[in-house]
Amino acid sequence: MEISEVRVKLVENKDDRLKAFCSITMDNEFVVRDIKIIEGTGGLFVAMPSRKMSDHCEKCGGKNHLRARFCNNCGTSLSDNRAKKDFKGRMKLHADIAHPINVECRKKIQEKVIAAYEEEEERSKQPGYKPVDMDEPEDDDVPEIV
Ligand SMILES: [Zn+2]
Repeated sequence: MEISEVRVKLVENKDDRLKAFCSITMDNEFVVRDIKIIEGTGGLFVAMPSRKMSDHCEKCGGKNHLRARFCNNCGTSLSDNRAKKDFKGRMKLHADIAHPINVECRKKIQEKVIAAYEEEEERSKQPGYKPVDMDEPEDDDVPEIV
């Protein structure tokens, strides 16, 4: 698989850990959107598109985000530690929607995306820079970095 195109939309807020949204095209025929570039402690990190995980209220069956403290539907107080923990003991609140299944592929995507991000950053310093026209995902949560 070759990554034939990367589009990067920089995030305006410079203090944010979320640096950009991007989309990648594979072999000129398959696009994955809502990839996030995040500033982590070890440098830039590429987060695959993910969704918030939820569970169901024990009392009424209502669906709630894992961080919710009360049921959206019946108001019952929910336990604080319902999320599964990752190997570092942090709550796992997101699940990847699309992701590489091996290290080589992750590395390939990471390198391409970061390179495109750095180019876009450079371009954004030029006068008359126009950001890429790309709609942003509604969810701009920064997922846990593993
Ligand atoms: Zn409920």
